[in-house]
Amino acid sequence: MVEIDALALAQALIRRPSVTPQDAGALDILEAVLKELGFMTHRLPFGDVDNLYARLGNAAPHFCFAGHTDVVPVGEGWNTDPFAAEVRDGMLYGRGAADMKSAIAAFVAAVSRLPAQKGSISLLITGDEEGAAVNGTVKLLEWLKGRGEKIDHCVVGEPTSVGHAGDTLKIGRRGSINFRITVTGVQGHVGYPQKAKNPIPALAELVTQLAQHKLDKGNDHFDPSTLAFTSVDVGNDATNVIPGEARARFNVRFNDRHNPESLTNWVRDRADRIAQEWGCAIDVTAQTSGTSFLTPPGKFTQLISDTVASITGQSPFFSTSGGTSDARFIKDFCPVVELGLAGATMHKADECVAVSEIVALTDIYAALLVAYFAKPPL
Ligand SMILES: [Zn+2]
Repeated sequence: MVEIDALALAQALIRRPSVTPQDAGALDILEAVLKELGFMTHRLPFGDVDNLYARLGNAAPHFCFAGHTDVVPVGEGWNTDPFAAEVRDGMLYGRGAADMKSAIAAFVAAVSRLPAQKGSISLLITGDEEGAAVNGTVKLLEWLKGRGEKIDHCVVGEPTSVGHAGDTLKIGRRGSINFRITVTGVQGHVGYPQKAKNPIPALAELVTQLAQHKLDKGNDHFDPSTLAFTSVDVGNDATNVIPGEARARFNVRFNDRHNPESLTNWVRDRADRIAQEWGCAIDVTAQTSGTSFLTPPGKFTQLISDTVASITGQSPFFSTSGGTSDARFIKDFCPVVELGLAGATMHKADECVAVSEIVALTDIYAALLVAYFAKPPL
C-alpha cells in the first residue's frame, strides 16, 4: 500500500471550504485516496448533501470509522486564512483542523500503514453532521442496512478529547429534548380579573415545579439529567389587559434513566394537574433531537483503552458528557465510541491543532486497527 501522510491529507481537505451543506470537492479528495488504497467507494448524495461510504475487504469482523467532512461557517476574527491550512509553529490552522478533517486524515493514514488483515475496514463519511443531520449518517445507515452490510464496531473521530488526543473516550452521550408549553386562559380587563382567566400564574407554577424537580442523581456513567428553561413569553405590551396566552420553552439533557416518552409523559402529567387546578388549557409539544446511549464498558472499550495507553502512556477517561453527535444514530447498529483530537478550538476562530497531535492520533488509530484485527472483541 502507498503510505499516506496524515498532515498533507488534512491540509488538502481543509483547503476545500466544505461549509454545510457544500462539499466543495472534499469528498472527491478523500474518495481518490481511498480508491488508491483499494477501497470500494460509494458516493451517496441525499437531498443537497453528499456522502461517502468506502469499504476495504468483505470479511468479518467489520471495523468502521465514522466522521464528517463538512465544517461550520468561518465566523469572524481569524488571524489566518481559514481555508489555507497553514502550518505555523507546529500548529495546523484552518476550519475543520480540529472538527474533524485531521481525524479523517489520521484514520486514512493509519489504514495505509496496516499490513493486509482479515476482516474489513470502512469509512462512513457524511457532509451533514454540522447541519440538520437528516441527509447524512441516518440515511447512510439505512442504505447499509438495505444492502445487508453489518458493522461490528465503530469509532467516531469527533474531537472528544480534552488536552491531548486519546485522553478521553466518549462511551455514550446524553439525550436532548426540547419542550414547548402553551397555557391558554381567557383574556380580560385587569380591573375585572374575575371575568378573565389569567394564564400567567398557572405557567409560573408549572415552570417552578418543572425547574425544581430533580430528574435523577446520575449513575456510574452519567451525570444527573438537567432541565433548563430557555424562554418564557407573554408578549403583552398593554398594562390594562390580562393576556389570553402565555408560553414557555425548555430543554432537557437526559441520561439513560429516561427516554423521550417517559419525559414527555412526566411533563404532560404535571401540565394536566396545573391545568385542572387553574382552569386553563395547557398544551405540551416535545421534539427529540437525540436519545441517550451508552456503550457499556466491555471488551471493545477495554481494547481501545489498552491501545491508547500503549501509545500515550495513559488510559483514557471514559466520558458521556457534551452535546450530541452522529454516534446517537450509529448506536442502533453496533457498539460505538468516540475517540479523536482535543476539541478546544472547534467551531472557533483560528481553529487549530498541533501537528504532533495529528501524528499521535494516527499512531493511536494504527495501533487500534492492529489490535482489533489481532483479537476482535466479539
Ligand atoms: Zn464534528
